[in-house]
Amino acid sequence: MSDAGGVVCTTCSRHCRLPDGATGFCRARRAERGRVIAANYGRITSLALDPIEKKPIAFFKPGGWILSIGSYGCNLRCPFCQNDEISQHGGDEVPCRTTTPAELADLAAQLRDERGNMGLAYTYNEPLVGWEFVRDCAREIRARGMSNVLVSNGCASEEVVAVLAPLVDAANIDLKGPSQRYYDWVGGDFASACRTIAMLHGSGCHVEVTTLVVPGRNDDDADMAATADVVASISPDIPLHVTRFFPRWRMADEEPTPVATIRRLADVARNRLRHVLVGNC
Ligand code: SF4
Repeated sequence: MSDAGGVVCTTCSRHCRLPDGATGFCRARRAERGRVIAANYGRITSLALDPIEKKPIAFFKPGGWILSIGSYGCNLRCPFCQNDEISQHGGDEVPCRTTTPAELADLAAQLRDERGNMGLAYTYNEPLVGWEFVRDCAREIRARGMSNVLVSNGCASEEVVAVLAPLVDAANIDLKGPSQRYYDWVGGDFASACRTIAMLHGSGCHVEVTTLVVPGRNDDDADMAATADVVASISPDIPLHVTRFFPRWRMADEEPTPVATIRRLADVARNRLRHVLVGNC
């Protein structure tokens, strides 16, 4: 969509209207000659061979390793962001290396042969604000017989998720809280996150969900019951990771979530879901 007021980005529900040369709220997409491009395409801030459990994903090729990449930018503003140094900055503020999907896929294959790497994980910052790079890497990875893993807040349009879903083998999607009210606090879209989980699950992708428990924000039993009910309404077989908040970014002065709170809320979720794991404990 383009008119005299600029072009509208439809990658997420923010629908930023961008005059030529302007960058969107996520800092990763930019208007150029009447169209929106991923300005972070091929720009990598982080690259590591991680255990799959670190994503966190517990039930897809457990014990395996996955080459994990991050770029920069995010369409949310969670005050507790654990990766703010890359998620909450633009490309002129963080050191990047430039690469191509084929180069990354070749590296993934080399690491398969040398270290047992299973594929490529799109993680660290929000990958869907640069979904075109995920798509192109995922095709290269599939062509080499390897797996694609997506770690995302899920707040992207139906069209974007429909493009990626057939290419993604496993995903961990945040369900940050039980309502749009909670998502208003983190700057996200509750309905998009729920839809993404359902679409990926429906496409046959292995999906796990993470809920970070923040004291005073989403830490009572009713919050967790409602969150787990959302997941259960898609499938009670979807694993849920109930994880502990640690003080970071704009909440650097807060106390971590008590371990007892995580254990109590995990029990609440276990009344609704078959697989509930605790994280950061
Ligand atoms: S992806 Fe970025 S530019 Fe596009 S609508 Fe969302 S925040 Fe705005």
